[in-house]
Amino acid sequence: MTESSLIGFSRGSATDASFHATNPSTGETSDLSFCKASESEVLKACQLASDASLKMAALSGAQKAAFLRDLAERIEELVDQLVVTMTSETGLPEPRVRGETGRTAFQLRMFADLVESGHWVDARIDRAQPDRQPLPKPDLRSMLRPVGPVVVFCASNFPLAFSVAGGDSASAWAAGCPVIVKAHHAHPGTALLVGKAVVESVRASGLPEGAFSLIFGDGRTVGHALVGHPAVKAVGFTGSRAGGRALFDLASQREEPIPVYAEMSSINPIFILPGLGEERMNEIAGGLQGSATLGAGQFCTNPGIVFYPRGAGGESLVATYVEKMKETASAPMLHKGIRKAYGEGLDALAGCDGVEVLVPPSDDSGGGGCHAGASVLSTDAANFLNNEKMVDEVFGPSTLLVSYESPEDLIRIADSLEGQLTASLFGDGSGLSEFGGLLDVLETKAGRLLFNQYPTGVEVCASVVHGGPYPATTDSRSTSVGTGAILRFARPVCYQGFPNDFLPDELKDDNPTGITRLDA
Ligand code: NAP
Repeated sequence: MTESSLIGFSRGSATDASFHATNPSTGETSDLSFCKASESEVLKACQLASDASLKMAALSGAQKAAFLRDLAERIEELVDQLVVTMTSETGLPEPRVRGETGRTAFQLRMFADLVESGHWVDARIDRAQPDRQPLPKPDLRSMLRPVGPVVVFCASNFPLAFSVAGGDSASAWAAGCPVIVKAHHAHPGTALLVGKAVVESVRASGLPEGAFSLIFGDGRTVGHALVGHPAVKAVGFTGSRAGGRALFDLASQREEPIPVYAEMSSINPIFILPGLGEERMNEIAGGLQGSATLGAGQFCTNPGIVFYPRGAGGESLVATYVEKMKETASAPMLHKGIRKAYGEGLDALAGCDGVEVLVPPSDDSGGGGCHAGASVLSTDAANFLNNEKMVDEVFGPSTLLVSYESPEDLIRIADSLEGQLTASLFGDGSGLSEFGGLLDVLETKAGRLLFNQYPTGVEVCASVVHGGPYPATTDSRSTSVGTGAILRFARPVCYQGFPNDFLPDELKDDNPTGITRLDA
């Protein structure tokens, strides 16, 4: 059977260029083939999105909320079908599919609540002062408005929560933007199931046709065509540094450059401060193993590198960690490309001067060629500081353990790091006061700082920051998780001297929407 893109309310045509999903656990290829979108289909999706732009921008918070809630419900109703399709396309286990379905619905409802309450628009009012001296002050009022059509690239490692109706799309719709999704080649069936639910929801909620399209095809063809199209005003992406950077560069070179919010590469360093006893170090080793191997290590917040103090406590940590990682069963990674990159990353790390392999990954790559075993490597601070290759992300269940001797070592190490999504400190309160300088440096490096906690398991809420300086993302001022994600797809507009009746409700004198405003 053949499937094709969803271009607004119509289907793409059958073409010769098609692809199949492959089960990473078994290597079996799906019977379903997916046609890659033609150039004219990409253009049509962009035109529909452009046509829908003003209508989407005019939707009230209540209308957007109704759509997001309707979609959340439809996705929850799909869960049994998602379990079948997504487990076979990704190798992820059923509980993960059910959990991610719940998270996806939760995110949609979270944005529904946000836009229904309306406070997010950051309304600011400076009333006119005609008698001000030496010059009268005009009436100025500003608020956030949608940027226009947004292209979203599905993430391979979150086939639901960061794909078709995931956080990027939900936040763009909530802002009032049409969304065109570029499906990931590794889970097209999952994308289509959710995509069809979005189309039903768009229809049922009375949104314009161009509010949503789902495009199948390669990044370098349809992806580039979408990002290069003049109607598109912003991009959301989660994936490799090379992919995110290529799209960022492309978007910057357009005649009208547009923002690309790419979440890419992070090794999420863990800093264990001195002074913790062997028992606590063993406990940390246990927690780390859980965090580093969760989902076969395929989380953006996976802790890839651990700095620990030399001495008895450190030795204990290493011994326990090695034992636990050796006991970890291998698991399928999401697709062959990711499995290959994991092997190459480990080889590159193992080839660095002064690196010792403590736990080599298992050779058994399973029936689908995608299984990966946990791995542990070690080195010391001097070697780490001498080789910039050691900071490269190895996406998968591996950890580089780095011993250090002095607080100065730690500051130098922190200073040498690239931008990160997270940085975690483990210690007691006194360790923290002694290492205050470390915290100051880490604040410049990461979007989220953790104390005695592991970085995986990102809470979806108002205050979370899932972002960070490059290469963690292409825009350190943003978050892709939590309600703050909506700000990526909105821009401030100021209305100067307008009669009250012609102002948006959020800025009218009597504040009919009842939102919180900065009213000078
Ligand atoms: P990816 O290769 O970056 O692909 C993600 C999406 O971007 C796909 O739709 C892909 O299209 C598209 N794309 C990739 N390169 C492009 C380019 N040059 N121009 C236009 N579009 C492009 O990511 P992946 O398949 O998810 O995994 C590959 C590697 O990415 C992993 O091994 C890992 O290192 C990294 N990764 C990191 C994170 C993280 O959060 N840190 C998450 C996932 C992956 P196609 O369909 O044509 O491939």
